[in-house]
Amino acid sequence: MVSSLIRGKYVVCRAVGGDESEIVTDGAVFQRDGEIVEIGRYDDLKSRHQPDEVIGGPDFVVIPGLINAHHHTGLTPFQLGSPDLPLEPWVIAKFGQRDVDPYLDTLYCAIQMIESGITTVMHNHALRWFPEGATLDDWGASLIEAYEASGMRVAFSFFNRDQNHLVYEDNASFMDTLPAALVNQVNDVFPFSPVSSADHLDLTAELIKRKGGDRVRVFVSAHNVHWCSDEMLTEVSEFGREYETGVHIHVQETIYQKMYGTRYWGKTPLAHLNDLGFLGPEVSIAHGTWLSESDIDLMVQTGTMLCHNPSSNMRLSSGVAPINRLLDRGVEVAIGIDEAGINDDNDLLQEMRLAQKIHREPGVGVANPSSHRIFDMATRAGAEVTFFGNQVGTLEAGKRADIVLLDLTRISEPYLDPDTNIVDAIVYRGKGTDVDTVIVDGEVLMRGRELTRVNKGEVHAGLKASLAKPLQPHEERRVELSNTLLPHVNRWFANWELEQGEPHYRYNARG
Ligand SMILES: [Zn+2]
Repeated sequence: MVSSLIRGKYVVCRAVGGDESEIVTDGAVFQRDGEIVEIGRYDDLKSRHQPDEVIGGPDFVVIPGLINAHHHTGLTPFQLGSPDLPLEPWVIAKFGQRDVDPYLDTLYCAIQMIESGITTVMHNHALRWFPEGATLDDWGASLIEAYEASGMRVAFSFFNRDQNHLVYEDNASFMDTLPAALVNQVNDVFPFSPVSSADHLDLTAELIKRKGGDRVRVFVSAHNVHWCSDEMLTEVSEFGREYETGVHIHVQETIYQKMYGTRYWGKTPLAHLNDLGFLGPEVSIAHGTWLSESDIDLMVQTGTMLCHNPSSNMRLSSGVAPINRLLDRGVEVAIGIDEAGINDDNDLLQEMRLAQKIHREPGVGVANPSSHRIFDMATRAGAEVTFFGNQVGTLEAGKRADIVLLDLTRISEPYLDPDTNIVDAIVYRGKGTDVDTVIVDGEVLMRGRELTRVNKGEVHAGLKASLAKPLQPHEERRVELSNTLLPHVNRWFANWELEQGEPHYRYNARG
């Protein structure tokens, strides 16, 4: 039996009711074998338990591990040479990126996340291509193994797509508009759907079967409504219900995606998903930037959850999701960093801050998200969307001990008004670099900013060495195709007049 007493000037157990949090001052959490036994005053717990060790002290705040509810890869697209563009050309630019060792890349991002206090992640991986010579099963398993090596919790899924790969119409119609030489190049190089729907679902079933310990969940995922045929969407949905696992999908990330719905179904993509019977409490949608009023009704009626990615939405010119409206209606909203956080790293504390600021609508007396609400989104709601809700997300007896200690020094010195609520202090001033210690299942993964399981230097050196090699011929062909294709994709979208409509939020009025 291994036990510890985790001590802080404050222990923030959970947010309650949107405007306050349950906080124990001079508190501690006593955990044994990874389960939280008791939370209370430090002096009291110390006198009644004999922990193997005491972690933390009066200069720390103890919080539940943070949850990154939408994530894809380690090295960011920017690091790999794709500066921000609107999403539609950005995905084409990203196609030109070089291969990165999937195991090292996943370990790299797990390290970054642990260092910024993230203990659970929703990892959503593209089935676009996989490394030369690897089998599908081994590739999938290696990504999960990287998380297992790191000690983090993960809700892992592969997403697939089978249509409209280049722009938002069928491939043949778009290819008809391209020069013949480019069509040949696309056919030779572009991996339209390298993995069939059947293989995707077999792979997911295999990963569910062979999944490791309690820290892994395997979800099923479709990429986005317009990129998937109705057959594929239905198969993914049925799979989720058969295996009783979570279903994750991007929805209405951009205005073009919303307009695609109007064009092809005379309704929003979310309404189309509802027609297919896809929505439900096992489903989380990423982004939802362009949800309409009636979409919000559907989210409420079906219990569908949302993963909000504010940095990504700003960086890729996607817009601002109507989070205040969703929260008003009681929709479960978690926060994700996607692959384009505000600092191009994986700092969820700064993502929380951006989420709070971006939803401050103009007007005296206009409601906006409190720090407690934002804290709730990044902890409890994140646990709900990753299906770890009855195990983590809050600090309470009986739950698993996924705990983060933040060093209060930088946050509170040289002076912070003593009446400042600690949750406000965290959301207003906290940064990933303030995270001192990270614990999952009672196991210390980082102490004094030193990782206990993974050798960061080795992972970085391995990535550096593998990326020092010159591009392989197949990678060079991808770069060339991406560059040639990009102006044609831009032209196609530039011809599509953006629809007008009432925005959910009014920042600046025209005229
Ligand atoms: Zn995404």
